[in-house]
Amino acid sequence: MDIFTGSFTQQEPIPDEGIEAALAVLRHGRLHRYNEAPGEIAETAALEEEFAAQMGAKYCLAVASGGYALATALRAVGVKPGDRVLTNAFTLAPVPGAIASVGAKPVFVGVTEDLVIDFDDLLAKADQADVLMLSHMRGHICDMDALVRLACDNGLKIIEDCAHTMGASWNGTLSGRHGMIGCYSCQTYKHVNSGEGGLIVSDNAEVMAHATMLTGSYMLYGRHRAAPPPEAFEDIRLDTPNISGRMDNLRAAILRPQLKALDAQGARWNERYEVMDAGLADTPGLKLIERPEAEDFIASSHQFLLLDWADDAIREVVRRCGARGVELKWFGAPEPVAFTSTYHSWRYAEPEAMPASDRILRAVMDMRLPLTFSLENCALIARIIREEVSAVYQQG
Ligand SMILES: *Cc1c(COP(=O)(O)O)cnc(C)c1O
Repeated sequence: MDIFTGSFTQQEPIPDEGIEAALAVLRHGRLHRYNEAPGEIAETAALEEEFAAQMGAKYCLAVASGGYALATALRAVGVKPGDRVLTNAFTLAPVPGAIASVGAKPVFVGVTEDLVIDFDDLLAKADQADVLMLSHMRGHICDMDALVRLACDNGLKIIEDCAHTMGASWNGTLSGRHGMIGCYSCQTYKHVNSGEGGLIVSDNAEVMAHATMLTGSYMLYGRHRAAPPPEAFEDIRLDTPNISGRMDNLRAAILRPQLKALDAQGARWNERYEVMDAGLADTPGLKLIERPEAEDFIASSHQFLLLDWADDAIREVVRRCGARGVELKWFGAPEPVAFTSTYHSWRYAEPEAMPASDRILRAVMDMRLPLTFSLENCALIARIIREEVSAVYQQG
């Protein structure tokens, strides 16, 4: 019996260029983003300038984490304590957490079998909030043209959570560029890795001036290279609290070469995803996720559904695959384990039950596909899952 021995949490090393740049920062010691030698462009400011250009955005702000980026975006658009904010029921804990961190209340919107936001449910709840924090969870992008129309018709501002879609696009427009604000994570398991880190992009000067003040720019915002002009700060600079969460030059140095390689890395991720999909195709009882033509995704993870399976049968699949080295995450497990979670796990948000979504969330099986996996590794993983799912399915 084949056994897989790789690690689902092992990312590639930081590229040499990033290591060299990091060493240079360590050697000169100016890690704080505003600590510049005369004439020097700080790594953080350069990163923002480059990422703005890469995303085709007017402005970019680098921050301490993806979750911090989301909370800052909410504050910058004026979300107040007690407000409701719409968000996906299928997402990860930092998203409702960001909403709760500003004293607002997440209102969860259901998920479809394609693992994207349910437009009918969104429409039904649209009048409850002014902001939709749209999470492109696990890289699945909904019909963004339709979503933008729906948001426009219902007066919803869109903040995009692009933790899993950095570099992906819908219909030729990059993820994070359909809404008012795009937020990205640079945490180890995302598409670029600085341990922790986040990026915010937008074309809206007012929002980005607020966000810049919020992250703790003191009166040094003039040193940014992808921030709004000083006039945008005039009226707000003494009225906006400093909630420190800046990025530092060490992380920025590590990130800059990784961003240059984003498209190439995306192509490598997708090769792995395709091997998984091909290996799992037509497995009885297992449903693959259909990806629309317009969705140009980057698949750094893979999902499939075991729809309407009994809990014990799903547990058995997880156990059997685990015994062969394939760590499946059961996102819908009744008790949250590690990163797995459903909206039921966020009790502080007092979520309302959504039976149609529960049926899908209960079925979601997930695994990361780090680039340290070869295509052969992926074929082996698919074969193991296929054998074990088939075996349990046949038992009943
Ligand atoms: C990782 C992640 C974030 C942000 O995470 P940080 O760890 O704070 O950078 C946001 N949304 C989703 C869906 C994520 O997976």
